[in-house]
Amino acid sequence: MALRFKNSYSRQVEEFKPIDEGKVRMYTCGPTVYLFAHIGNFRTFIFEDLLRRYLKYKGYQVTQVMNITDIDDKIIRDSQKESKALKEFTEPYTKAFFEDINVLGIERVEHYPHATAYIKQMVEIVKKLVDNGLAYEVDGNYYFKISAFKDYGKLAHLDMEGLKPGARVASDEYDKESVSDFALWKAWDEKDGNIFWETDIGKGRPGWHLECSAMSMEILGEHFDIHTGGVDNMFPHHENEIAQSEGATGQKFVNYWLHSEYLIVEGKKMSKSLGNYYTLRDVLDKGYSGKAVRYALMATHYRQQLNFTFQGLDAAGNALERYNDFIANLKDFAGGESDGNASEIIEKAKSEFENALDDDLNISAALAAVFDLIRDINRLKAEDKLSAEERDSALETIARFDTVLNFRTESGGSLDEQVEALIEERNQARASKDFATSDKIRDQLLEMGIILEDTPQGVRWKKKV
Ligand code: AMP
Ligand code: ZN
Repeated sequence: MALRFKNSYSRQVEEFKPIDEGKVRMYTCGPTVYLFAHIGNFRTFIFEDLLRRYLKYKGYQVTQVMNITDIDDKIIRDSQKESKALKEFTEPYTKAFFEDINVLGIERVEHYPHATAYIKQMVEIVKKLVDNGLAYEVDGNYYFKISAFKDYGKLAHLDMEGLKPGARVASDEYDKESVSDFALWKAWDEKDGNIFWETDIGKGRPGWHLECSAMSMEILGEHFDIHTGGVDNMFPHHENEIAQSEGATGQKFVNYWLHSEYLIVEGKKMSKSLGNYYTLRDVLDKGYSGKAVRYALMATHYRQQLNFTFQGLDAAGNALERYNDFIANLKDFAGGESDGNASEIIEKAKSEFENALDDDLNISAALAAVFDLIRDINRLKAEDKLSAEERDSALETIARFDTVLNFRTESGGSLDEQVEALIEERNQARASKDFATSDKIRDQLLEMGIILEDTPQGVRWKKKV
């Protein structure tokens, strides 16, 4: 069966067909770096990791962008409160985010653009929208005129007839009841202190929604395959991204929209504003491993709400142990006399695993196939009916599954992987001309005893002796 996704835009399950054969261009809304990300955020980032890894498993070449929102209303508010410069305030949270995704075994994506490095592109979009009659200026602020964009509300399935749009809204976040012309660009105001950019459209700073339109189109092109985020991003953020991007380019922005449901605590969305959240660090401090958190956050279908409990984390830890013990014990098994059943068991597991994930990433069915394989191979092993060749084939199969699941506990977190990840991050920073970050990473590596060398073939590293 072909790979299918439930597209939030059409609300239909659709077969996935990439724009360019064999390639996927995908954008995922990244963290707002004004606090440590909480495990609700990581539920969404882990769903996106599962999606990315399964696309790669299917043989697609994936180019994924995850932005770092390093300028928005909340960042300005909190950096002012702490009397810190923007960068000084956001940098520790950005660094913590990359540390956390390492602990969770989330694979690095190809691009991590910082919003503050794309102001020029944002201004260009505003200018185009004004030219196209879709944006207007009031006292140095630029607003998107939603009544002039006929498709407004299609992603969130708003009944625009029934709604009475408000005049204008300046804040980045608002609910469906207050649907209004939204701010693309906010003129400098005293409370912004020294946070502003001098641009062709005046002194000010971008609205949050504009940031993602600019970064996605600059890196992935004006029309790309997949856009993801948590359900709370659907309105107004993604609705506004579509309006800005399509309004500026006149062409379709994204083919497939995928949204993951909330991680909830006692019936409520885990959120920074409600204060009912755990950071990854909180959970690790209680003795849970990153991989147990990964398992717990991944094992429920992304479109179902997931209730966070510590019992759930314990259960995830037990399942992980079973998975890893299976691999370790099987490696030690010398091999017996085949009874001819193993290949069928393995083939069945493979096809069930793939059929499940093809079906809009049905992870619980995929995990059932994995644990059936573990049970059945363990049985053959206990009865000495598994040959050495069949053992290797079972190990290869689980290793292939693990390229998607990444539940192996001995992999990940090694020095080499950490160093490679940091080098990649530094390359990204250099590509977006963020030399301060790139220098910082070089220093961080030096502290770890790693020296970087720029060679014609790229960056090499060696240990300080
Ligand atoms: P933020 O840093 O607030 O912009 O959020 C980063 C990502 O986490 C976005 O894709 C949000 O939709 C997602 N998110 C926020 N809260 C939750 C939650 N409780 N459960 C799942 N995803 C969430
Ligand atoms: Zn976004």
